[in-house]
Amino acid sequence: MAMRLRFAPSPTGYLHVGGARTALFNWLLARAQGGVFILRVEDTDRERSTEAATQAILDGMQWLDLSWDEGPFFQSRGLERHRQEAHRLLERGLAYRDFSTPDEIEADRKALKLGERRPYRTRADALGADLERERLDAGAPFAIRFRVPDGETVWDDLVHGEMRFANADIEDLVVLRADGTPTYNLAVVSDDADMRITHVIRGDDHLSNTPKQILLYDALGYDLPRFGHVPLILGTDGKRLSKRHGATAVGDYRVQGILPETMVNFLALLGWNPGDEQEVMTRDELVQRFSMERVLKKSAVFDPEKLAWLNGQHLARRSAESLLELVRDEADRRGQRALLDGEAHTNLIVLVEMMKVRARTIPELFERMEPLLLDAPTYDPQAVRQHWKHAADARARLLAAAERFQSSAWDAASLEAALRALAEERGEGAAKLIHPLRVALTGQSASAGIFDLLVWLGPERTAARIDRALGQLPDA
Ligand code: GLU
Repeated sequence: MAMRLRFAPSPTGYLHVGGARTALFNWLLARAQGGVFILRVEDTDRERSTEAATQAILDGMQWLDLSWDEGPFFQSRGLERHRQEAHRLLERGLAYRDFSTPDEIEADRKALKLGERRPYRTRADALGADLERERLDAGAPFAIRFRVPDGETVWDDLVHGEMRFANADIEDLVVLRADGTPTYNLAVVSDDADMRITHVIRGDDHLSNTPKQILLYDALGYDLPRFGHVPLILGTDGKRLSKRHGATAVGDYRVQGILPETMVNFLALLGWNPGDEQEVMTRDELVQRFSMERVLKKSAVFDPEKLAWLNGQHLARRSAESLLELVRDEADRRGQRALLDGEAHTNLIVLVEMMKVRARTIPELFERMEPLLLDAPTYDPQAVRQHWKHAADARARLLAAAERFQSSAWDAASLEAALRALAEERGEGAAKLIHPLRVALTGQSASAGIFDLLVWLGPERTAARIDRALGQLPDA
């Protein structure tokens, strides 16, 4: 039977890192096993669910390219079925009516604290058939509570191995509230059974729900799926990942210039590893290598430094053509689109190619391209202090280089040979010429290889930049 998996987000906020990781693990497993991946939006919490959050989740999934085979289904559509299931439990004596008043609920809370067990069950059982009938006829509101059976609930978790819960520790859970709305545990079991889900992969935070759900599966007469609980995600300080650690919404990383393939790679490594040293993996490689056996029990750490590094790796693997698209979006965001539009496409491609190996994000890539695209670079004061400190020396070096370039063929090898010969004649290291020249060409002290830059700029722009630099030197 084909594996059937689902991602079941509650649309009460953006698609956050933990949710996206759950979605990804389900998706990877479905793709790896030729299974079916279903998207189900759990919108039963009417007060907290919003249209915007649903859209943000769909956008996030689309950006990560986690395509679903069925859905999106909305849990609220199953409301009637959920109610029927609750009543089915009632009819079979597997659940009971709880007529508790607010005062009684308050008293129960205290009793529970004092160690009393299931006070609401005691009260319901004490009611007797006649009184119950009376209340029903009077239209008294009631919730339906599942009667947790005695014994123990055990399952073989795909991540944690054998899990055991004493049923005595599980409260009789409400499955249908007095207002007729189902609770999470009932709705999820009913839907998972209805959708013939074979594997439930979700976060560790649901571990305590699983025994309740297993008991409901049994009571409703459904086959159990396999369960797998993936580890919690922590910040680098060992605390549960939260806004304090920076962005937690997947969409924020998109804006920061993280590539979707990076995010997928990074999320996959949050709680899973391939068992060797390989960290940079494409989506296809992940599909090939992913398995639940290698999902770790211990919590995963979200390390922003690693994310940035990984992004650099994926950026360098991208074609210049596709990066240029993203650089254009970035330029649009900054209102600097004209910079790119003023340059020939082929020149832009060469420039992206030159800069992409050094950049870790799209904004960074744009910032590395920018000084070359501006009519004249803005000089970084620190670079000026460092490499133009002795203005007379800098001037002499720039002049000598400019002159030498005039008689050189304009390719990287020739330009390099010309500059090295010049350095030798002057009895100094080539760096002495290269540093002030780099500041003249880019305004910065670090850049792509200087000879590639010269080729890219061409003789006219190079000469103009050197001229301008000469005009900037303090004793001009
Ligand atoms: N809507 C639940 C959540 O977002 C789904 C849990 C589950 O996968 O069963 O936590």
